[in-house]
Amino acid sequence: MKGWTKFHEQWSQQSQQFSQRLLDRHLRLGITGLSGAGKTAFITSLVQQLTGPVTEVQLPFFSPLRQQRYLGGRLQAQQAMQTPRFAFEQNLQQLQLGKWPVSTTSWSQLSLTLRYKPVSGLAAKFTDFRELQLDIVDYPGEWLLDLPMLQQDYQQWCEFSWQLFAKPHRVAIAQAFQELLATTDLDDDSELHIQSLTDRYSALLQQFRVEAKACLLQPGRLLLPGDLAGTPLLQLFPLLPSQLATPSKLLLRLQRHYQSYQQLVVTPFYQQYFASLDRQVVLVDCLSALNAGYHVLQELQQALMLILQSFHYGPTGWLQRLFSPKISKVLFAASKADQLTPEQHKNLTLLLQQLLQQPLQDSRFQYCQSEAIALAAVVTTEVGQVRTAEGIVPCLQGISARNGELQTVFPGEVPMSMPSPLLFEHHAFAFPDFLPKPLAPQQMLPQLRLDQALEFLLGDKLQ
Ligand code: GDP
Repeated sequence: MKGWTKFHEQWSQQSQQFSQRLLDRHLRLGITGLSGAGKTAFITSLVQQLTGPVTEVQLPFFSPLRQQRYLGGRLQAQQAMQTPRFAFEQNLQQLQLGKWPVSTTSWSQLSLTLRYKPVSGLAAKFTDFRELQLDIVDYPGEWLLDLPMLQQDYQQWCEFSWQLFAKPHRVAIAQAFQELLATTDLDDDSELHIQSLTDRYSALLQQFRVEAKACLLQPGRLLLPGDLAGTPLLQLFPLLPSQLATPSKLLLRLQRHYQSYQQLVVTPFYQQYFASLDRQVVLVDCLSALNAGYHVLQELQQALMLILQSFHYGPTGWLQRLFSPKISKVLFAASKADQLTPEQHKNLTLLLQQLLQQPLQDSRFQYCQSEAIALAAVVTTEVGQVRTAEGIVPCLQGISARNGELQTVFPGEVPMSMPSPLLFEHHAFAFPDFLPKPLAPQQMLPQLRLDQALEFLLGDKLQ
């Protein structure tokens, strides 16, 4: 009987370890970033690297590949019917034709199986290979910007919004909506009235984004509704602070809509999608923000601060109570580094760290390991040198996105810390947009530092 108990104990211990390993064989990787940050290009290139012929893949820092243990990856044939599938094949085709694919506007997923040889130990002795199921989940960073709305009431949200709209790059654009609200009948809470004001607010958010290059836009779902398009849940806009003191039918209705948005949109997003993620990539387009000027760069920093709140969780925090997060690693990646000459990449990483306003080992991140790098999902340029009066300077050559012609430029320097408004008065940043170089169907997309990204995100899981 004693022997049996021991066997039973050993067996249950082993089966526990086995199921633990089984659990370990599945990883959900979230990819996010504000619109235009480069999510679509990043996922397409990453998936091509993971599923392409192992002999063709150039990922020297990705240890399973360097150690010749990576046996390859394939797309899973079946995916749950109700899960939108990331359009990998179509996006890859576009890139190979020399065009940028259509950007992310909602969430989607792609599931892969990665096969590798274990490093050593028992597993290496008894198995030829192991497999890791990798789910890549793409979703707009704008949806993370809704998190702070859970800690504000409608009035506080209105105050916050109108403070933002008063910033120099937004104030003129917001004026017409401000005038419209100032003259609106606050006792008209009819469907028609609320919807027409919502439509005007939604158009204002688009205008902020396109004309002012603004990125802190709430509610995120009004801009990128995903599957909520056209639902009454999105009837929401901020009344003027002066309209909040006296109760009115419109105020009451909007307060109710705001609470519904918190309960039926923001909270479920965290519980259903975010809570299931194990690791996360946050892509940040610092270069477009530099091009757009000081106020946009400052707003990007403010938006990143809000996005970071989603990763500041500990065992006793409110986020823990809300959705029990389990993200153990976050990679912050400054995208489109191929728009710079190589000696500027370090500055780009330093600037990203400055925008995140913290050394990433900060104690607020103790439950989540993080790293910041500069990368390019699709390298569009070639690096060269030109002789000038000042000597030899590095330059870039690529196909201009403006006119489709081959262009040679010196894109300029990236400041290694948050630049002052004064710098923008004397200097206009102009990092140019390029098109991808057309490739043959089997060719791998040229990329920069995806191997470092993969090593951080997957290296330990493919041991
Ligand atoms: P999303 O909105 O986050 O899905 O962003 P996309 O992946 O659609 O990228 C938006 C735009 O950024 C593209 O149309 C390109 O112009 C540019 N872009 C994205 N990735 C890269 C890259 O690796 N290098 C360069 N040079 N441009 C990029």
